[in-house]
Order: sequence, then C-alpha cells, then structure tokens
Amino acid sequence: MRAYRLIGAGRAEFVDVPVPEPGPGEVLLRVLAAGVCRTDVALLRSGGDGLVLPVTLGHEIVGEVVAQGEGVAGVAGSHPGAVVAVYELLGCGACGACARGHENVCRDLVPGAIGITRDGGMADHVVVPARNLVAVGGVDPVHAAPLTDAGMTALHAVERARSLLEPGATAVVVGIGGLGHLAVQFLRATSKVRVLAVDVDRARLDFAAEIGADDGVLTGPDAADGIVAANAGRKVDVVYDFVGAQQTLDLAAAVTGRGGAIVVTGGGGGRLSIDAKMGAGAAPDREVAIVHTFGGTRDDLLRTLALAEAGRVRTHVDVFDLAAAGRVLADLETGQILGRAVLVA
Ligand SMILES: [Zn+2]
Ligand SMILES: [Zn+2]
Repeated sequence: MRAYRLIGAGRAEFVDVPVPEPGPGEVLLRVLAAGVCRTDVALLRSGGDGLVLPVTLGHEIVGEVVAQGEGVAGVAGSHPGAVVAVYELLGCGACGACARGHENVCRDLVPGAIGITRDGGMADHVVVPARNLVAVGGVDPVHAAPLTDAGMTALHAVERARSLLEPGATAVVVGIGGLGHLAVQFLRATSKVRVLAVDVDRARLDFAAEIGADDGVLTGPDAADGIVAANAGRKVDVVYDFVGAQQTLDLAAAVTGRGGAIVVTGGGGGRLSIDAKMGAGAAPDREVAIVHTFGGTRDDLLRTLALAEAGRVRTHVDVFDLAAAGRVLADLETGQILGRAVLVA
C-alpha cells in the first residue's frame, strides 16, 4: 500500500509498504479521509525533532474497520464495516486524566499522536488502538476527518473560556484557518457572543463573515485600534489565538479587557507577556485569565461530531487525491488552502 512518510527535515515521500497487521487491542482501518494540518507542515520543515522516523503522516483520520487484533472483538463500534473517526491522542491510558478521556493532559507522559509518534492516515490503511475509535455518526468522512484534530482542538479552546461567553460579550478569533474557521462556527452554534475575526488576509475575513463572524479586522500595526473600534470603543472579553505568533500574542494582550481571557492554541512560537503591576488605579488590565491549550478531550471530539451531525458546524474542505499529499503540504504552507485540505485514497 501507499504511505506518505516523513523521512527527515524537508523530506517526505510516498513509500510502498505492506498493509500493517493489527496487534492486540488494535484495529486495521481502510482510510476514507485524512486531513492535512499545519502541524504536518511544521513536522516536514523540522524533520520532527526527535521523533522516530520514518513515520507515516496524517493525524486526522476517518476510516472503515477491516480487521481486528486480539482482544478487540468485544469493543463497541470496532466491528468490521464500522465507519469510525480516530481520537488522535495517545496518553499513557492509565492515569486519572487518561481515564477521563483527557489524554491531552496525560499526567504521566507527553501525549503522542497517531500520525506523529506512530504511523498515521496518509496511507491506504492504518492500524490504530481500538480505544481511540469514536463513532462518526452521520457525518460524511471527508467533513468528519478535520473534526478529529482541527475541530476538537478548536472546540476545546472555545470551552476553556466558556464562562465568559455570555450574551453581549465579544470574542475575537485570530487566524481564520483550519481551526479558526471552526471556532467561529462553534461560537456561533453554542453562544450569543459577538464574534470578531482577525486575519492577515482579506479573503479569509470575508470567509469568516460568510460562516458567522459579525465583523473582521486585518492584522497589522492598526489591528488593536481596529478591534476596539469594531467593539464600540471597548476592549474585548475573550481572544482565541490560533496563530500564536509574537504579533498575534501582543495583539491579544493589548485588546483583552478586565475580567477577560486569552486562550492560546496556535503554535507560532511567540511569547505572551503581561505587565505585573501593583496598585489600585495603576493596573487597568489585571484579572485576565491566560490559558494555553493542547488538543482536546475525547468528549470534545464527541461534541464536535454531534454538532456537525446536527448541521450546526460544517468543515470547509478542499478535497485532493492522496497522491497529491506533497503538493497539498506546500499549498498549505503558502496559504493557498481555505479551510481544511483533506486527502482521499
Ligand atoms: Zn493537527
Ligand atoms: Zn495518562
């Protein structure tokens, strides 16, 4: 079968490999759809910094179960023919966090992921642990695949500031890409906040408006003033930063008002800093919550799929043949993909 493998820094290629056999507790999937993420671009650029290579990329997977390993026969939803989504994260599976399905905050090890620390879905077949299977419901595989990472992660971020998402509040979504375009929709579907989109690209702000943003502001030197102006002269309640670059983190710090929250999900390499000043009358922006998120929980994934099944959110997908994986990664890096690119075999 074909497998698109990361070989080293700047090197990924299709390799012809045998169809893998599921071991104990695992299932073999025929891949129906595999999403392409900025993390894949970063892995390709860096060569994976300490990962065991080669590894087949693809951490957003929907597939059909075609074989079960030992001990899986009784696991609900893992029977051959089942169409399943894959919860991407791999914690220890045994600590309190993992037992609750919060493998993103496994207490015992840095969580791995299928398609990063073991072979993933940019292939004709993939073997995954049966415990990572999630029913896909009525969602089309091509639309469901990006929900397993971009969707789950965006909803998890939204939830981390849930208490502030009251009617009349304003939330800013920075970066209208794979995650941000879903975050806009989650905010729209689960709250009555005003949503402001921020991006470097005017076309993406137009896209955000189509999917529910109330207004949009271009990044740049005037972005902070633009956000405050678009919010009737007030700072905002929540900023969700799906970029995480220095410029966007500085912007988040500048526009988040008292009692607000900054939720950082993007991995753009910036550093968020605050002024830790003392004193009544001298610290206008004290009492801001700062949250740094990683991935999401199994429950976030279930809710993401349920919202999609109910028609409340929809992944904007660009579909490509699996064979185009290399070109798609290049297009993603240069900003040519709107929404999420999905590979199909
Ligand atoms: Zn990803
Ligand atoms: Zn754990």
